[in-house]
Amino acid sequence: MNKTLPNHVHVAIIGGGVVGCSILFHLAQKGWKDVVLLERAELTSGSSWHAAGQIHTISSDPNLSKLQGYTINLYPELERLSGQSVGHHKTGGFYLASSPERLDFLKRERSKARYMGLDQEFISLQEVAKMHPLIDPKYYLGALYDPLDGHIDPSGVTYAYAKAAKTMGATWHCQTPVLKTQQCPDGSWNVETSTGTINAQLLVNAAGLWAREVGRLAGLELPVQPMEHHYLITEAIAEIEQAESELPCGIDYESNLYFRQEHHGLLLGTYEPQATPWMVSGTPPDFGHELLEPALDRVSSRLDIAFERIPALARAGIKNVVNGPFTFSPDGNPMIGPVMGLKNYWVAVGVMAGFCQAGGVGLCLAEWMVEGEPPVDVWAMDVARFGGFATREYGTLKAAENYARRFLITYPNEELPAARKQKTTAIYDCLVDKGAVMGVSFGLEHALWFADSKQNAYEVPTLRRSNAFAQVAEEVTAVREKVGVIEIANFAQHKFTGPGAKAFLDKMLTARLPPCGRLALAPILTPKGRLYGDLSVACLADDAFLLFGSGAAQEMHRRWFEQHLPTDGVTYRNASDDYHGMAISGPNARRLLSRITNIDVAGNVFRFCDVCQTSVGGIPATLMRVSFSGELGYEIYCAPHYQLKLFEAIEDAGADLGLQPYGARAMMSLRLEKSWGAWTLDYRPDFNPIEAGLERFMDFDKGGFIGREATLKHQENGVDKRLITLLVDTNDVDVSTDEAIFHNAECIGYVTSGGYAHYSKQSVALGYVPTEFALHGEKFEVEIFSERYPATLITEPLYDPTGSRLRS
Ligand SMILES: Cc1cc2nc3c(=O)[nH]c(=O)nc-3n(C[C@H](O)[C@H](O)[C@H](O)COP(=O)(O)OP(=O)(O)OC[C@H]3O[C@@H](n4cnc5c(N)ncnc54)[C@H](O)[C@@H]3O)c2cc1C
Repeated sequence: MNKTLPNHVHVAIIGGGVVGCSILFHLAQKGWKDVVLLERAELTSGSSWHAAGQIHTISSDPNLSKLQGYTINLYPELERLSGQSVGHHKTGGFYLASSPERLDFLKRERSKARYMGLDQEFISLQEVAKMHPLIDPKYYLGALYDPLDGHIDPSGVTYAYAKAAKTMGATWHCQTPVLKTQQCPDGSWNVETSTGTINAQLLVNAAGLWAREVGRLAGLELPVQPMEHHYLITEAIAEIEQAESELPCGIDYESNLYFRQEHHGLLLGTYEPQATPWMVSGTPPDFGHELLEPALDRVSSRLDIAFERIPALARAGIKNVVNGPFTFSPDGNPMIGPVMGLKNYWVAVGVMAGFCQAGGVGLCLAEWMVEGEPPVDVWAMDVARFGGFATREYGTLKAAENYARRFLITYPNEELPAARKQKTTAIYDCLVDKGAVMGVSFGLEHALWFADSKQNAYEVPTLRRSNAFAQVAEEVTAVREKVGVIEIANFAQHKFTGPGAKAFLDKMLTARLPPCGRLALAPILTPKGRLYGDLSVACLADDAFLLFGSGAAQEMHRRWFEQHLPTDGVTYRNASDDYHGMAISGPNARRLLSRITNIDVAGNVFRFCDVCQTSVGGIPATLMRVSFSGELGYEIYCAPHYQLKLFEAIEDAGADLGLQPYGARAMMSLRLEKSWGAWTLDYRPDFNPIEAGLERFMDFDKGGFIGREATLKHQENGVDKRLITLLVDTNDVDVSTDEAIFHNAECIGYVTSGGYAHYSKQSVALGYVPTEFALHGEKFEVEIFSERYPATLITEPLYDPTGSRLRS
C-alpha cells in the first residue's frame, strides 16, 4: 500500500513487521485513523518473514500468557476482518517434562492457567503417543496439553493485521525508510523518510531487528540484541503422509526442542546452549529478506536428543535449514510503552515471540496511547523496568543469557549470573564476606540472606523450600527478639522541591500530605483508579518532599511524575542513586540507635513516622522511624559514600545487642506475618485500592487527586474481589505466586505472594478472592504442584495485630 505521504499525522509507526502492523490494527480499531506505518522495504522484511510460526500461551508472566491467549484467539477475527488467510493450524500442543522439576514447573503452569481462563490440562503419556505416534513416550514423566497451541503463516498474519487496519482507515507505506527523527519544540516529531518528511504527534519505534538503529535516531540506546536462531524442516515422513489428521505441536523442555508438522515433514527448532548474538555493533541498513549461514554444529547435540525422542527424525532427510536473527530484550520479554525522558516517543521492541505476543502488545500499546493506560498490568513488558544501568553491553550479555535459557526453568529463588555487579553499594564486599547470597534488582546487588560462611553462600535453585530456609528463620528470629540490620539501597527516592511541590503531590498522591518532619503512606492511582504505586512521602520542609517507593519501579514512577509535572513551580528528580542506607529493626533497635545519634530517640519524642535530618554514626543522614518488619525500627538514609561508615557504626553499636544482618528473604517473611502486601505482587495496576484494602491511605476530603472519582465509584458500587491472607496447611512446601485458590472445589481466585512466616511458623498466602468469600475463618484450598492444601482466611495479621510493637 503506497500513497503520497501526508504532511502531518497523529501517530507514525516505524516498522512493518508483525508488531508494527498489530499496533496499526489496534490503534485503528480503537478509532485512531490518522495513523501511518512506515516500512523500509516490504512488510515482514525483518524477522517476521522467516519465523517458524509456532504459537503457544506459556510465558514467564501470567498477564503475558493471558495476552498470548488473546493473540491466538484474535486470529480467526483478523482473518475475517482482513480477508487475508493467516494459515491458522489449531493443532493443539503439549509441553513435555522428562524431569521431576520440569513436571513441578508444568503443574505450576497448570495452576496459573486456571485463573487466566486458559484451558490447559495434563494428558497421559499414552495419549501423547496416540496423538503424536512419532514421539517415544518412554523419555517423559508428564505432558501438559493446551488446545490453543498450533501454528500460523507469519507473512499471512502480518499482512492480515495491516489489511484489517486499512479497512478501518489506517495506512502503511512501503519502501519508505525512516532516516531521521527529530523532536520539534512542541514535542511532536519530524520523521524524515526517503520520500518526504512527516510531522507526527506521537512516534512508535517498532523496528524489530533495527530497533537499536531507529532508537539512536532519537538519541536512545535500547538494550536489545538480535540473536541467531535455527530451525530445520525435514523431508516427508511416511507416518505423517499416512496420518489422518495433523500432528499436534510441542515443546520438549529438557531436550530444548520445539516441533510441529510442516506439510508432510516436521519442523524442529532449538535454542542452542551457547547463544550467538548477531551484529552486536548494529544491524546493517541493507539487510533484507536474507537468511544467515546455517551452523548445524552448534545445534547438533540437541538434534541427537531429538533423534532419540522422535526416532523418525533420524531416518528423515533434512529439506531446509533456517538460521535467522530475531531480537531479545535483557529478560526476553517485550519492551513496550512511552520512553522515560523522551516525550511522545513510544517503543514496542524486543518482541521475541511475535506471533504469540504481537496481538497482546498491540492491544496494550494502543489502549495505553488512546486511553492513557493499558488494559492490564504490563509491568513484565514495560520499557521502564530497565534504567540507565541497562547499557548496550548489558543488553547483549543478558539477551544472550536469556536466549540460552529459553527452555530452562528459572526458579523463583534463582538469580541469574550474566552482567552481575552492574551496580553495587559501598558495603557490597562486607556483605559478601559475611556470607551474603546476593540478588539483583534494577541492576543493583543486594543481600537475599546470609549463609553461615562465605564458602556456603549459595542457594540451590528450587521450586520448593531452599537451603536458605533455616538461615532465614534465624534472621527473622533476630529481628523479632533482638535487632537486625538490612541494607536499604534498593528503594527508590523521588525528590520534589519548589513552591508548587505541595500542590503537585496533593494531586498525585491519595493521602493527605504529612506536616514537616512526618511521613505518610501514599498510594498513587491511575485515572481509572488502578494502583500505580504504594509510596511513602516524607515532608522535609514546606517546599521539599522525598518519596520512597519500589526501587524496581523507579523509572516507571519517574515517567509518571514527569508526564504530569507542571511547567514551573516544581523541580523533580529521581534521586534513588543519591540515597543508600541501612534499616535497623527489632526490640533493641532504639538502644542501638541511641548510641550512634545525638537526637533524643525516646518513643514519645521521636515517634512512629517521624523524620529528621541528623547525624547517625557520625555521618549526615535522613532518619525515619518506620519499618517493613512490624517491629520497632528505623530507616537511615545517607549519600552512598557515607554508607560504609554508617554500617560500621551500626555493627559496633549493636555487637552486644544481638545485632544480626538480614536480607530480603527474611524481610518478605516478616511482612507476610503482618499481612502487608508488596509492590508488583499484591499491589499492582491489576487491582484498585479498595480491592487491595488500601482505602485507609486515601483522603477523599483533601480535594482532587488522580483516580479519586474512579475510586469513589468503586466504593459506591462495591468491588468484586478482595486481597486476603490465608494460612495454608502444609508441612514442606509453600506458595510462591500465581497458584489457584479453590472454594468448594471451584477455582475462584489466585495467590499474589506468599511463603513461610518463620516466626509464626505458618505457611502464608496472600491473594485475591471474590468479595463474598472474604470472611474471617472461610475455608479454601490452595493448589501447589497439583495438590490442594486446606487454607483458612484470617482478617488480622498473624503477628502483633494491634501494631503495638511497631509503635512501641
Ligand atoms: C528462525 C526464527 C524462528 C522464529 N519462530 C517463531 C515462532 O515460531 N513463533 C513466534 O511467535 N516467533 C518466532 N520468531 C520470532 C518472530 O519472528 C519475531 O518475534 C517477530 O518477527 C518480531 O517482529 P517485529 O515486528 O518486532 O520485528 P521485524 O519483523 O524485525 O520487523 C521490523 C520491521 O521494521 C522495518 N524497519 C526497520 N528499520 C526501519 C526504518 N528505519 N524505517 C522503516 N522501517 C524500518 C524493517 O524493515 C522490518 O520490516 C522466530 C524468529 C526467527 C528468527
